[in-house]
Amino acid sequence: MRITRGRKNILSVLFQAGTPLSLKEIYERVATYESAPDYTTVFRMVSLLENLHVVEKVNLQRDCSYYELRNPDEHYDHLICTYCGKVQRLDLPCPLKSFEKQLQKSFGFQINAHSLEFFGRCQDCTS
Ligand SMILES: [Zn+2]
Ligand SMILES: [Zn+2]
Repeated sequence: MRITRGRKNILSVLFQAGTPLSLKEIYERVATYESAPDYTTVFRMVSLLENLHVVEKVNLQRDCSYYELRNPDEHYDHLICTYCGKVQRLDLPCPLKSFEKQLQKSFGFQINAHSLEFFGRCQDCTS
């Protein structure tokens, strides 16, 4: 029961964030809920959700892992600000669909997924 509620909290935290969160960020946000689980429990629940393919680990070339909700029908690439560390999800149609087909044809490689990360300076850090 406690686990189930905690899991739901993690999912709503990720849903509200709309951007990948690190375990620490997930933990901090979940802690604002009434029955906040401890760090180890959060870690275990996130791993479980990852195994269930509900949550996806995003590789952002950081020292810690980031997680976001997985939508099987959609896929997101990311903009990463190297100044403030902000991660923005690209809510734009991914332009690589046709390129993937081309790669599949040229290399006979079946592509299941890809992840694009653009590094640079965000709007807040340029203004
Ligand atoms: Zn920034
Ligand atoms: Zn993409």
